[in-house]
Amino acid sequence: MTRFEFATATRIVFGAGALREVGRIAKGFGHRALIVTGRSSGRASALNRLLGEQGIARSTLAIAGEPKIEDVERGIQFARSEGCDLVIGFGGGSAIDAAKAIAALTTNGGEVLDYLELIGRARPLANTPVPVIAIPTTAGTGAEVTRNAVLASPEHHVKVSLRSPLMLPKVALVDPQLTYDLPAELTASTGLDALTQLIEPYVSCKANPLTDSICAEGIRRAARSLRPAFDNGTDKSAREDMAVASLFGGLALANAGLGAVHGFAAPIGGMFPAPHGAVCAALLPHVMEANLIALRERASHSAALHRYDDVARLLVGSDRAGAAEGVVWVEHLCSHLKILPLHRYGITANNAPSIVAAALKASSMKANPIELTTEELSEILERAL
Ligand SMILES: [Zn+2]
Repeated sequence: MTRFEFATATRIVFGAGALREVGRIAKGFGHRALIVTGRSSGRASALNRLLGEQGIARSTLAIAGEPKIEDVERGIQFARSEGCDLVIGFGGGSAIDAAKAIAALTTNGGEVLDYLELIGRARPLANTPVPVIAIPTTAGTGAEVTRNAVLASPEHHVKVSLRSPLMLPKVALVDPQLTYDLPAELTASTGLDALTQLIEPYVSCKANPLTDSICAEGIRRAARSLRPAFDNGTDKSAREDMAVASLFGGLALANAGLGAVHGFAAPIGGMFPAPHGAVCAALLPHVMEANLIALRERASHSAALHRYDDVARLLVGSDRAGAAEGVVWVEHLCSHLKILPLHRYGITANNAPSIVAAALKASSMKANPIELTTEELSEILERAL
């Protein structure tokens, strides 16, 4: 019997040029916005101006790289001292996740660790967060429609999530124009994250009819447009497709979970300075292959086997394609997009046992279509090195 839930941002506004609407949208939520950006807040100048035109006061916080617990602590203090009643995340997944975490904890007491899973006390949020408007400037994470924020704890060498249904943004404003100047390397790694975040929920053991249709459309668009977007960043229709694919990946993963690729990506991201999307890309074909072998050996009636055939058809664009062709297609895409093997980020075979042990505990691993053994996980990692 089918039973499912689907939760997302209260409002999604999508379209080239949609940023122009931000002032009027923001006005409905507050008078003083905290704008959270990536390393350089200069790219947010148009956003700043549009908010100013509507009489909204602004305070800006730039966070370099993926957000750490201390960045969030600093952001909470800043938001409270400035009296911000609205938080706007403007940037890649890191800036948006930081914005969601700061908004969530500005209204909730205690320290960040009180609310973190795995390394903290996993306390649920008691109070409603400050409203969040999420505006992605990359096409990859879909963080504008997810209910968690990935935070790094350098002390624990791990990345963990702050998670709550209350953390879904009030508005996800997706403007593909903001991705036109994304460099090719970032287009590749973020785009492959988006593709992974569409394939994993599609074969997930938590998939539902709504996420299925979202994934199918997202995979179709990423398959036809990731190469063109990489080859020619000014290809507007390719950029639009990738923005849709990224958004759809976020919608899908927030409601159907992920799988082994992301199970690995969490501990690897905590231990090595490797970009999340590049790690996912290096692992994706090997996880697809290992899942297929394990399913055929131990669950030959599993619907996930047919789902991998569907994935292949969507990727290859042919009704006759089978699962194995999907794996080859992804391998070719990764080599076209110049994805590096994991050893290029300093990961060696010596690190494998600790990575595999941590991956087994990762929350994403629970949605993988079949439980993989320690040996199978070690083999995946060895191939991705
Ligand atoms: Zn991801």
